[in-house]
Amino acid sequence: MTDSALARVVNRRVARRRAAEPCELCGEPLPADHAHLLEERKDQVLCACRACALLFERSEAALGKFRLVPSRRIRLTGPPPSELGVPVGLAFFVRKADGAVLAHYPSPVGATRWEVDGEAWERLTGRYPELQTMESSVEAFLVAIVRGLDERWLVPIDVCHRLVALVREEWTGMSGGQRLWDRIGTFFAELGT
Ligand SMILES: [Zn+2]
Ligand SMILES: [Zn+2]
Repeated sequence: MTDSALARVVNRRVARRRAAEPCELCGEPLPADHAHLLEERKDQVLCACRACALLFERSEAALGKFRLVPSRRIRLTGPPPSELGVPVGLAFFVRKADGAVLAHYPSPVGATRWEVDGEAWERLTGRYPELQTMESSVEAFLVAIVRGLDERWLVPIDVCHRLVALVREEWTGMSGGQRLWDRIGTFFAELGT
C-alpha cells in the first residue's frame, strides 16, 4: 500500500470514529439526531437512518418485527402516581401489545421488572390522559421521584434504555453514588430540550 493510500484509509477511520454511530441496518453514518427501531422480540433498540427506518417498519418481511420508535417527549404534571401502590423512585412503565403493563426499575444489574395491576394502571391513566395515547412497546411512562427529583414523562423507549445503561455504568456503592445522581439530574434536565 502506498503512503497516500494508507493515509486515506487512516483518514477514513478517523472520520468514521468522529461521526455518530452508523445505521445498524445499512451502515450509513448517522446524524446525532436519527430514528430508532425497536426489535420487539429482543427488546432491542437499533439506530437507523431515515430510509431504513421507514423501509423496515413497512416491509412485509419485517412486519411486526420492527417498530418505529416515536420521538415525542411530554412532561406530565400533577401529583405523584400513588395509584400504583408502590414507592416509585426511578422507574418506567411499558404497555405490551397484549395490554399488560410492565414496571421496570433500573438497577446496577440492568432493569428488574414486574407486572402492574391493571386496575391501578387504569386509575392512573384516568388522571394522566396523555398516557391513554401511549403506544405499546415503543413508548414509556418514565418517573423519577427520588433524591430531590420530581419528574414524570411520556418518552420514547430508547430514552429509557439510555437511562438503564447510565445506571448500570455509573452505579457505585449501596445507593448509586453522587456522580450517578448528578448525571441522572442532567439526563432529565436535557429531556425537555
Ligand atoms: Zn440505514
Ligand atoms: Zn441511536
